[in-house]
Amino acid sequence: MTDNLSANRANFVTHLECAMTGERYEAGRLHGLSRVGRPLLVRYDLAALGASIDRDAIAARAPDLWRWRELLPVVNTANIVSLGEIETPLIAIPRSGGKGVLVKDEGRLPTGSFKARGLVMAVSMAKELGVTRIAMPTNGNAGAALAAYASRCGIETIVLCPEETPEINVREIAAQGARVWRVNGQIDECGAIVGKGAAEGRWFDFSTLKEPYRIEGKKTMGLELALQFGWDLPDAIFYPTGGGTGLIGMWKAFDELEKLGWIGSKRPRMYAVQAEGCAPMVRAFEQGLEHAERWENAATVAAGIRVPKAVGDFLILRAVRQSGGRALAVSDAEILRAVDDTARQDGLLMCPEGGATLAALRKARAEGLVAEGERVVLFNCATGLKYPMPMAGEPLDRTKEIDLSRL
Ligand SMILES: *Cc1c(COP(=O)(O)O)cnc(C)c1O
Repeated sequence: MTDNLSANRANFVTHLECAMTGERYEAGRLHGLSRVGRPLLVRYDLAALGASIDRDAIAARAPDLWRWRELLPVVNTANIVSLGEIETPLIAIPRSGGKGVLVKDEGRLPTGSFKARGLVMAVSMAKELGVTRIAMPTNGNAGAALAAYASRCGIETIVLCPEETPEINVREIAAQGARVWRVNGQIDECGAIVGKGAAEGRWFDFSTLKEPYRIEGKKTMGLELALQFGWDLPDAIFYPTGGGTGLIGMWKAFDELEKLGWIGSKRPRMYAVQAEGCAPMVRAFEQGLEHAERWENAATVAAGIRVPKAVGDFLILRAVRQSGGRALAVSDAEILRAVDDTARQDGLLMCPEGGATLAALRKARAEGLVAEGERVVLFNCATGLKYPMPMAGEPLDRTKEIDLSRL
């Protein structure tokens, strides 16, 4: 870690560009959405990058997120606000998932979720660009990661959660120094309040994809997979999709790796997984649309994917279609069964969103979309310990005679 953080390096960012129109924006300045209200993507001088380092040199570095620093936007490494972003392991779940299925266990990252990848990058860039106050709408984990990294470098944070956000998330956000509010609405309605304050100049808007650097942090999931699979990507990736940052980021990573010549043109089929109670991407995918309409009355146990409207909808749908994958919806009952199976049979406690990916894999197998023996990656995005578990543990009175055969 320290090695990767302290090493001097050149920065290869050339500019940013609107994901919709391709319009160019200058690097080294604060940006939100593009002029047409769409996400900005960071572009690199990949030819120069490839001439300065090769994939074996990166593979030889300490295994953390910062080993990819040439492919990341932070200019001055002193601005990196790290809490120890390890490379997450791939865990086999042979009994609940079957042969060839690996779970990328993101619950081991700082703040217990993969939101740490996006927020360590976005906050480091905010620090680099002189931001002092940030506001964000969140279903929980993004707010927790924002609070942690921003507090660490003295940036003030205001976090707005839908009132049905898991209790532990609301409290961990407050515990890590943010001012947190429970709003009687969905995440996009919280986002409208954040947007209003940003327009008045009260704070910088950190909504999903409304600043350009979370994608760069989330992209490291794709970079890590390439390295972990020996530069030969898996056959299928199941990703629980809310705002879609990770799916968009991985797709961008694969493109950059191919341009560098570090991987070939073969891509995993990308499966965007949503809950039946909030499936705007699935509906748009099935209707052949480029953009997804807002999903009304969104409801699911998987709070992280309860996102009725995503500003990067067209990027999610594009990646899924280009990859030959699909958007799949699963029920809350299927999600909870998958979480239970993996915990009891393979000893891995996943979050509900992680459970959704196993439920979707089961559905995909039943529909013949995934063949036996294919190399499949499921994303467990947060530690299962953050989520409510059923009551357990009957009292045992040690002062009375205990029938040990009953235990
Ligand atoms: C945020 C989140 C997701 C969705 O991630 P996106 O990249 O925003 O689509 C899934 N699961 C959990 C646990 C999350 O916190």
